[in-house]
Amino acid sequence: KENILEVENLQVSFHTYAGEVKAVRGVSFSLSRGETLAFVGESGCGKSVTAKSIMRLLKPPVAEIKPESKIICDEKDVMKMSGKEIYALRGDEISMIFQDPMTSLNPTMKVGKQIMESLMLHRNMKKAEARKEAIRMLKMVNIPSAEKRVDNYPHEMSGGMRQRVMIAMALACNPKILIADEPTTALDVTIQAQILERGTAKEIFYESKHPYTWALLSSVPKKGDASKEELYALKGTPPDLILPLNECPFASRCEYCMEICKEQNPMETSLSDTHKVSCWLMYPKAPKVKSFYDREE
Ligand code: SF4
Repeated sequence: KENILEVENLQVSFHTYAGEVKAVRGVSFSLSRGETLAFVGESGCGKSVTAKSIMRLLKPPVAEIKPESKIICDEKDVMKMSGKEIYALRGDEISMIFQDPMTSLNPTMKVGKQIMESLMLHRNMKKAEARKEAIRMLKMVNIPSAEKRVDNYPHEMSGGMRQRVMIAMALACNPKILIADEPTTALDVTIQAQILERGTAKEIFYESKHPYTWALLSSVPKKGDASKEELYALKGTPPDLILPLNECPFASRCEYCMEICKEQNPMETSLSDTHKVSCWLMYPKAPKVKSFYDREE
């Protein structure tokens, strides 16, 4: 399948008074046309920074995408784009839905006008046609009385409606890639992204090999026992990234942690063309452990 997005060795740092925070360390993935790719992890683990890096939304000099990072969108090198090209990339190629609508809706402008601006800029529509299309899009995202709501300011709508307006705005540009991000505080410097587990939905849900993924899966409620059992919660917080991080980023919280895990960050092991895992347990001489699946039986 043809890849529409390729990210290779993405490295992002934040320069803070306390020192350099390596927020994203060597993240690689690709997305093909028609494919849905989900990033799963605790809040604050680096998903948003990864998404914002692709759209070049992080502000230098505080945030720095390291030059060795490669971001290729529809065969174009995003890292080498001029300001004008990046502006065209946002909307024409990639749109992002921020779950906090106030971060990207303009509070001083009617929502219809905001959608119309996108349509006129990215789809070359004339004003009357853009207004008709804006109403159609508001209906599509289930905004009641769209003909009237089109002239509302964001503060005249409920939070849920504003969120749907954001979705309509993101779709208005007819982008090739749509990124839907979860709520997060802007520039959260405690974050870190390193992909520990990568695979198809089947590999992640039924054949996962990483203790972090097992912990995440354990926190999913099981059918029928919601009232009986307390949900599993991952203990501790991600590591302090100001400190040099040579160990496995999950070491301080992993119940399978071995000596080697505290000394060396595990390399990625390939289990199949699609299934990759970064964990010392995958080392051929590592002790066999009882996994999440063994316990389920
Ligand atoms: Fe746990 Fe070690 Fe695997 Fe990290 S490398 S997840 S600490 S077993």
